[in-house]
Amino acid sequence: MKFLPLGGAGDIGASCYYVEAAHTGIVLDCGMHPRKTGAEALPRFDLLTGRPVDAVLITHAHQDHLDALPFLVQTAPHVRIVTTPQTRALAELTLHNAAGILQEQYADDPTITPYTHQEIDLLVQSMEWRSYNDTFDIAGYRHQSPEPVRASFHDAGHILGSASVLLRHEGRSLFFTGDISVGKQRLLIGASLPPGPVDALVLECTHGATDSQTLPSWSQETKRLAKEANAVFGRGGSVLIPVFALGKMQEMLATVFGLINKGAIPDVPVFTAGLGKKICMVYDKNRYAVPVADSEVELLQLPQQNIFDVQRSGDFFQAPCIVLAASGMVVEGTTSFGLTKRWLSQKGSAIFTVGYMDPSTPGYTLIAARRGGTIQLTQTLAPQTVECDIIPFRFSAHSRREELLSIVDALRPNRVILVHGDEAAINWMGSAVLDAFPATKVHIAEIGKEIEIS
Ligand SMILES: [Zn+2]
Repeated sequence: MKFLPLGGAGDIGASCYYVEAAHTGIVLDCGMHPRKTGAEALPRFDLLTGRPVDAVLITHAHQDHLDALPFLVQTAPHVRIVTTPQTRALAELTLHNAAGILQEQYADDPTITPYTHQEIDLLVQSMEWRSYNDTFDIAGYRHQSPEPVRASFHDAGHILGSASVLLRHEGRSLFFTGDISVGKQRLLIGASLPPGPVDALVLECTHGATDSQTLPSWSQETKRLAKEANAVFGRGGSVLIPVFALGKMQEMLATVFGLINKGAIPDVPVFTAGLGKKICMVYDKNRYAVPVADSEVELLQLPQQNIFDVQRSGDFFQAPCIVLAASGMVVEGTTSFGLTKRWLSQKGSAIFTVGYMDPSTPGYTLIAARRGGTIQLTQTLAPQTVECDIIPFRFSAHSRREELLSIVDALRPNRVILVHGDEAAINWMGSAVLDAFPATKVHIAEIGKEIEIS
């Protein structure tokens, strides 16, 4: 069994890896880099030249794990695509959304030919789905072994339908965590690992450099959010929460209504819109199909008003209210970006950020700003005075670093391959794994550098 990184190795970017066993080739994830453009945003598909590409397994429907799939299918149209039923349903929504954005972004740019809605329809129809813990066989037409590669998905606890992947062949095994949350969120209950041991563990390292003291539990952050929201409502303000449309929006919606229903915060109007609302429907339909904390929570039954109705009316939001708007990193041109510009001038109101902000995004500038100072959200915008409060929270959908070590402890791999983290994150995880498990071989994944799983 061989493992070859094609993207996302030393970066949180275009997650894409290739595994070959007995001349069967399996691609794990096929993501697009959210902050790069053109061919730079895609995995290194050129490294697949001359290698068999028989199947693609998608761990979850986030852009950086899924959105390059239609480009791979353009070059390998007969590839078998397998994912969980929930990721298939979410992919139908998110890939159509991506197609629209790419067509706009690359209208006059020849570096990428964007995929069409028709291509997405065909691709989604051809996607196979397998539930958590079901084993399925993969063997390409050049497969040279009496035994197929055996694959299974395992609940990764990150977003709805997210999976880690276990591959087994002729006594060798590889476990790819994908994005994994060992701890629970408001809706999802956390990852479920298969029994170990495994030969190789491909481990995401998002929080490798984050001191866990600065990453409170979901329930601790929920209490803090209630306290801060009450302070804002007490002075007659409103709260804007920038969220990712997939995952964070649904978790935060359930969190906010959990507080309203308990009487911990007042019953103020809650505004949502767009893709995030459509995704709520997929969460609702699957609330008995996958493990969730409370199957009774039906997101679309929670009373919400539409952000776009207010924007169309030309009025502004009447305080008090809570607005959940994408994107999570306040990317220019999105709903949360437009609202942030308005919110910054609202005395008494507040912007609650809830997750990680990439340094290249306006969200990163936002979390560094404080009331009374000035902020320049993008280079082309004039600086503006910050009149509202900006309160960063950490509602994480990734494992803390000690939880990542607990995965190593549970699966006892011979070798750990570190992926999906910046240099500091990967270095911390590498040292920590070697300290705790000195017999383990540690690899830092590098694009194009093949690792033999022996
Ligand atoms: Zn993700």
